[in-house]
Amino acid sequence: MIRHILSLLSLLALLSCGGRSQKTAFTSARDVRPASYAGDTPRFRALLYYSDHVEEAHRQFTHQSIAFFDKLTVGDGWKLEADTTLLGKGDLSQYDVIIMPDVHPGTEQERTLFESYMENGGGWLGFHAAAYNDQSLTWPWFRTFLGGVRFLCNTWPPQPALLEVETRDHPVTRNLPEEFVCPSSEYYQWQPDPRQNPDIRILVSLSQKNFPMGLKDVVFGGDFPVVWTNTRYRMLYLNMGHGDECFSDATQNLLFVNALRWVVSESPSGKKSYL
Ligand code: ZN
Repeated sequence: MIRHILSLLSLLALLSCGGRSQKTAFTSARDVRPASYAGDTPRFRALLYYSDHVEEAHRQFTHQSIAFFDKLTVGDGWKLEADTTLLGKGDLSQYDVIIMPDVHPGTEQERTLFESYMENGGGWLGFHAAAYNDQSLTWPWFRTFLGGVRFLCNTWPPQPALLEVETRDHPVTRNLPEEFVCPSSEYYQWQPDPRQNPDIRILVSLSQKNFPMGLKDVVFGGDFPVVWTNTRYRMLYLNMGHGDECFSDATQNLLFVNALRWVVSESPSGKKSYL
């Protein structure tokens, strides 16, 4: 008798599915999601370009950034590829953004590829030493791309700092507080000040309340832009990125997610829906 009841229940279950497979039923359920939901197709692709031949504090940040961004790919919403070279990848325009934690392209071939990628609508998210350059850099395009600036000095030792959000009229900063204390990092000052470049829009800077700052390299004041974009490109630079504490603060992590989201949302391949 029990066996007959189980058979009847199985038949009713089959009829209720209309003979469709479970996969079809799942697809049907998914259809109730908003039209903007992109389904099974990865919505964008990112390349994280890195090097292990950097100082230890930069290597720590680099590997934590790989883990941080990789965690954000959960559910296969987007694809992240991490590699130590830009070569052999075909057309870089397949990537909506190239993330560079603490390094920029070092060989002529890579520099040419990256320059072409950015000049043709590529996206860039650079951290800390990715923008480091001094008089020894023989890549004028890259310095112009950053805002025409080169490294002047740094705060030392790495320490937490009060950051000032200069504008919240931007997708990267609109949900951030006016000020927040960021985890320990090393901050660079630049010459000339990127603020003097009309193409540069500064979003976050070191608060003047920090000064004097440092114990070895003491800074008594001055302008320390921390997050900026060159409005001629789809790019964002963030000066944090030294040591193993940069991903320990929710507000700063939110800034990082906002940064990735904004650069991708500006992609010419039509990702405006991410704003
Ligand atoms: Zn550093």
